[in-house]
Amino acid sequence: MKTLRTSPLGMMLSLAIVAGTWVIPTLSFASEPGPNDYFHTGAGARYLVRAQTALDIEPQRDGITVLLGSGGNITVLSGPDGKFLVDAGISPSRAKLQVAFNQLGATSVKYVVNTHWHWDHTDGNAWLHAAGATIVAQRNTYKHLTQTTHVNEWNWTFSPVPVDARPTLLVDDEKTFDFDGTRIEVENLGAGHTDGDLWVYFVKADTLVLGDTFWNGHFPYIDNEDGGNIDSAIQWANSAIERTTDKTIVVPGHGPVGNRADLIAFRDMLVGVSDNVRALKQQGKSLDEIIAAKPAAAFDARWGGFVIGQDHFVKLVYAGL
Ligand SMILES: [Zn+2]
Repeated sequence: MKTLRTSPLGMMLSLAIVAGTWVIPTLSFASEPGPNDYFHTGAGARYLVRAQTALDIEPQRDGITVLLGSGGNITVLSGPDGKFLVDAGISPSRAKLQVAFNQLGATSVKYVVNTHWHWDHTDGNAWLHAAGATIVAQRNTYKHLTQTTHVNEWNWTFSPVPVDARPTLLVDDEKTFDFDGTRIEVENLGAGHTDGDLWVYFVKADTLVLGDTFWNGHFPYIDNEDGGNIDSAIQWANSAIERTTDKTIVVPGHGPVGNRADLIAFRDMLVGVSDNVRALKQQGKSLDEIIAAKPAAAFDARWGGFVIGQDHFVKLVYAGL
């Protein structure tokens, strides 16, 4: 049993991992702030709270359904060969996800593609593998999941995941599946949000699942410490724009299911903030001075309402320039 230590006087959230299963955090009133880390004040805490409420189950077309509310978005193709998932969500949602999968058909989950290594996309690997699924990931995602990885930005050290939660089918650049009567194209385009991103394109449904290389309506996290950066994030967005049409369904890692116009708006926001931060950096300004200049202010009303606020996003952009 691994317990997350909290302040003896009070805490915002307390939670524990028992045999690989997250115990849902309990809220308490703090007499002093709790630890400032991913699972207490960061995105992880937010996802754990969200997972306590119902999933949003959004049917798309040609057997594709998107499930929202278990960490990152989960895309499911359900058909005669079984279920093909993009991302695994988080383990506290297991019971809700099993109910949702059963509603989509009696077949079992055969494949789970991890779009990247982050906890909110991979924590469900263990139970899905135990239920019979093969876990698919880019080689660098495998590396992060099997090594101790500290993320300064999250003030958290992730231990290697249990052997049964590790990807066993590794992708370098691309891999194609023929499953449920459609072709499924899995590709890595080099560094993006991390150094191990995969996108998944369902040909028949004309649906492109982008993981965290696309946050629809939100400033994205960029994992500069694990190979991502703003320029490569922009390149992924540009490549996705090239690959899609106005008819393509575009599934982000976070935010509502979108389309090509949403993707273009996201790319334009990335470029706009990047240009502003770069110009200030070239003037010799420090990070603190750049944050104080509010170079993302024009984008904040539309993009700043989720886990990454404008000042945080400016810091993430700056770190990659
Ligand atoms: Zn991520």
